[in-house]
Amino acid sequence: MKLTVYNTLTRKKETFHPLNEPNTGMYVCGPTVYGDPHLGHARPAITFDLLYRLLKHAGYKVRFVRNITDVGHLEHDADEGEDKIAKKARLEQVEPMELVNYYTRSYHRAMDMLHVLPPNIEPIASGHIIEQIALVETLLKNGYAYESKGSVYFDVEKYNKEYRYGILSNRNIEDMFNATRALDGQGEKRNPVDFALWKKAHPEHIMRWPSPWGDGFPGWHCECTAMGRKYLGEHFDIHGGGMDLIFPHHECEIAQAVASQGSEMVRYWMHNNMITINGQKMGKSLGNFITLEQFFTGSSPLLTQAYTPMTIRFFILQAHYRSTVDFSNEALQASEKGLERLLEARSLLNKLAPSATTSANVSAQVKNLREKCEEAICDDLNSPIVISHLFDAGKAINTVHDSNGTITKEDLEELKGIFHLYLEEILGIQTSSTSSGTREASYSQAVDLLLSIRRQAKENRDWTTSDRIRKELESFGFKIKDTKEGVEWSL
Ligand code: ZN
Repeated sequence: MKLTVYNTLTRKKETFHPLNEPNTGMYVCGPTVYGDPHLGHARPAITFDLLYRLLKHAGYKVRFVRNITDVGHLEHDADEGEDKIAKKARLEQVEPMELVNYYTRSYHRAMDMLHVLPPNIEPIASGHIIEQIALVETLLKNGYAYESKGSVYFDVEKYNKEYRYGILSNRNIEDMFNATRALDGQGEKRNPVDFALWKKAHPEHIMRWPSPWGDGFPGWHCECTAMGRKYLGEHFDIHGGGMDLIFPHHECEIAQAVASQGSEMVRYWMHNNMITINGQKMGKSLGNFITLEQFFTGSSPLLTQAYTPMTIRFFILQAHYRSTVDFSNEALQASEKGLERLLEARSLLNKLAPSATTSANVSAQVKNLREKCEEAICDDLNSPIVISHLFDAGKAINTVHDSNGTITKEDLEELKGIFHLYLEEILGIQTSSTSSGTREASYSQAVDLLLSIRRQAKENRDWTTSDRIRKELESFGFKIKDTKEGVEWSL
């Protein structure tokens, strides 16, 4: 299986070869846990889940590391402003770690619902302060960092003389100087483009640790360099994240790695594109911010209905990960219908009767389907093309179902195998428990089932059974109401 991936660093598609085949190291920047998981979290998670699933299918032994940022991510991405977590904790009057644990749990719940596989290692920034201090010490020793008033900064100009700063984002240091020169409040830095490796904690700052430079906390970019190296080694294969992380976060990670060990750590840099809502960037200040919970329950004024986690997942996979995705109710409803069509076709597969031959009209859509799906997914994860091939298979299935064509037993088995591998295993669409894949849907189906047994019992004048079902459901807290149309229930 020859897999090609687009490398942001070289700006071209490259054939994927792990440094230490079949072992593959993959690091993805995870969330900063200070709020409810939202649509912006879903896209990188699903993109790299697709890659993780594909690599495993291709026979690689993958060690997937995705971190949790719980310290050092300041309000203004660079290194100014209050710590995002400390600020939210102050506003909510809780311990920062209380907040971190609460939002980490809601992130995990949302990821489970989206059927995103958990990483093999999920390191937490505040659990790796020693490693980050060691990184800062090495950078100081190598002469690429300097201490200033209890903080330590990376010397970008010095680094740029020997290596090139801006290699990933394709930026020119002169332009960066010009863009940042106007900002004030940079008094501690030798140069406004320098970034913080360690920040001195002011007396009111809660999240603080002792260090050779006094009490403080690590700069945001340190954690991924320190934890990536700790768990994947000095050289590993893939580093991923959203496009918004290319600069400054990943650019700074490259500078830290090269300045500390003399070489780049990462072989392939991969980035997913962003999500917009009705053509606009999503943001709390823009009033178009939708959490995943709101999508699943429909409880946002911007949504005309609830969308199941699998609809959200399918919608994201219907776009190539390097294209933008624009969320709207219309687009989501189209995805919902498309996914339903695919799932119906898949369940029809179990009901079709095989024939002695596959008719020409069916054969045209089924022939080489596996090869076509593999070619698409191995071409830089082209999930929309895979989905279009599955839709073609769906058409063939419907043709046979409508008795307008025939299919052999072998072809039928092949189609079942393809649906299982591509739809379920690689695209990660959960097909059990109808199209929803949610716990809520399964649970309401179970209640509906009990009530339909009760209806049958009533029709058979089996009052003992019908009363028992009503009474027991009521004892669990359900309200059952018989109406002219049938039965209504609520909890
Ligand atoms: Zn990171």
